[in-house]
Amino acid sequence: MDVLQTLQALRNELNQHNYNYYVLDNPTISDYEFDLKLKELQELEAKHPEYFDENSPTQRVGGAITKNFETVPHEYRMYSLDNSYSKEDLLDWEKRAQKILGDVPMEYTCELKYDGASISISYENGKLKRAVTRGDGFQGDDVTNNIKTIKAVPIRLKGDFPEKFDIRGEIILPFAGFEKMNQELIEIGETPYANPRNTASGSLKLQDSAEVAKRPLDCLLYSLIGNNLPIKTHFEGLEKARQWGFKVPKQSHLAKNMDEVLDFINYWDKHRHEMPYETDGVVVKINDLHQQDELGYTAKSPRWAIAYKFKAEQVSTKLNSISYQVGRTGAITPVANLEPVQLAGTVVKRASLHNADQIEKLDIRIGDEVFVEKGGEIIPKIIGVDLNKRPQDSEVTKYITHCPECQTELERKEGEANHYCPNFYGCPPQIIGRIQHFITRKAMDIEGLGGETVALLFNNHLVTNYADLYELKKEQIIPLERMAEKSADNMIRGIEKSKEIPFERVLYALGIRYVGETVAKKLAKHYKSIDAIASASLMDLILVDEIGEKIAQSVIEFFDNQENRFIIDRLKHYGVQLEVLATADTTVSDVLLGKTFVVSGVFEKFSRDDLKKAIEDNGGKVGSSISAKTHFVVAGDNMGPAKLEKAKQLNIPVISEDDFIKMINE
Ligand code: AMP
Ligand code: ZN
Repeated sequence: MDVLQTLQALRNELNQHNYNYYVLDNPTISDYEFDLKLKELQELEAKHPEYFDENSPTQRVGGAITKNFETVPHEYRMYSLDNSYSKEDLLDWEKRAQKILGDVPMEYTCELKYDGASISISYENGKLKRAVTRGDGFQGDDVTNNIKTIKAVPIRLKGDFPEKFDIRGEIILPFAGFEKMNQELIEIGETPYANPRNTASGSLKLQDSAEVAKRPLDCLLYSLIGNNLPIKTHFEGLEKARQWGFKVPKQSHLAKNMDEVLDFINYWDKHRHEMPYETDGVVVKINDLHQQDELGYTAKSPRWAIAYKFKAEQVSTKLNSISYQVGRTGAITPVANLEPVQLAGTVVKRASLHNADQIEKLDIRIGDEVFVEKGGEIIPKIIGVDLNKRPQDSEVTKYITHCPECQTELERKEGEANHYCPNFYGCPPQIIGRIQHFITRKAMDIEGLGGETVALLFNNHLVTNYADLYELKKEQIIPLERMAEKSADNMIRGIEKSKEIPFERVLYALGIRYVGETVAKKLAKHYKSIDAIASASLMDLILVDEIGEKIAQSVIEFFDNQENRFIIDRLKHYGVQLEVLATADTTVSDVLLGKTFVVSGVFEKFSRDDLKKAIEDNGGKVGSSISAKTHFVVAGDNMGPAKLEKAKQLNIPVISEDDFIKMINE
């Protein structure tokens, strides 16, 4: 095989794995193996720029920046859909169609109505050419770079696809991914996104496609458009699209008559909450494409299709009171305490009110009968007030001016929706929240210490910041509620062990606003020590890859604070890792490019996994057994004699971990 053939084979293989994983939901290799192959392809492509292919799976990670999205006309207009809300509406629609078509039998395709952002994607010769947003229906924005990062969108088709066609679908963000994104935002003190739909459509217009690549977006397709397509019915089109590699939800159903359509609607009205993404109705389409042609379009929508909107699950109930929660970063969140009520299968007692603006906009008052709806969020939200039921003596809600926990006057920064309690060091929920964040698994991962115990320690005046944890004595812990000798021992041991946590995670654990896991890694890699970060200027920080002004400003503020510096000095004194360990410094490079390593035995400075990662981070490959293709064997203690023998036979250098460290630091 020549290089080009190898490249193509790898690309095809990776495309197939993407398809298995993202479209079929049925991966056949591990993520790790996938990453290895992707890396192999990346290296090969780097060596052979002459074979660059914009549709290579390596291009899926994004990186292209679009400053201004180009406006392009749709070759075929993107219409809206008429809505219907009842059986009668649907029967009327059927009658109108029947009147135009005459008394012919009609079949219908029923599909769920996916709630996201519509997209039109053009393919030519089986390759993704262009993806355009709906815009005003006549023209939209070219978002090709961003769409290519969504792995469910095929960049190369398979089977007997037509030479040229468009396909339409919806870009969505499944609940699980949405919640994960929000969890990460909450962890660094950012405001979470309101709902999956807006987040999905916002993602399409991000300038940095690498950002889009990180979002767990999905693409569900529902219609083929083009001349002379090899299909006679809409349903056939769905099946073909599926064969060519598109993700077409299998819930789509061919109904022989209106009764079957109604059955489909009734079924999904009850079961739609079992879907992993949001749906807001059913789209019914007359199946025969000739019939569709004959029916044509109104000014705004096709006559051959109609959306049936599910009734949003909504109830009304009384707002008993509003309470205000104080988060780890001091952000205030108003929460509605409701008269308990059944909604979408659960009893709802509380609803989110977001912020002061929201309360003011809806003029929500205590004692009001409010409408509560459950969207994609975990916590339901209040969407309005039943003014007819407002008590005569009701009063406009006055947002609190002082912190409910520490009575400090609240602040609200220019352009921010939330109020904040500025009492960073004296406000109990902020103090407890920060320590709770410090001990979480992704941060210091302190075993034997949980969130509730942190509150207990604080309430007993044993800790007021995370540095205090390292001064805790067993005798202080044992007398506490639900504590005993053994649990105290575990806690102390867990705290002691956290001194081994690497710097990048310590940096994340400090809870600097906007410094999440990724940013912490970037900063640690760039500056190597807390002192270097603390003395960096705003400009310095902004120049670091992916660090924006908001983050930089927050870092500066954190280190400007005397108290923070003092706490960090204490952490240093206790032996917490506040710099990157020189020996384990495995900065990314390509010094090992083209070299294959086999790792064997037990190591002192690395775990085996870390050593393998270091090899890969520096461009090398990890082989599983010694062969003629191996360049080096990295040997630790207890390396098997058979392996040693084999390396000798093949004349492969056997190096120690220190040799290896030297090698990558050269
Ligand atoms: P509307 O925005 O209310 O006019 O509804 C039309 C939109 O519904 C289309 O632009 C599509 O993006 C979206 N939609 C979601 N699911 C489907 C589906 N299965 N078939 C057609 N359109 C759909
Ligand atoms: Zn406070």
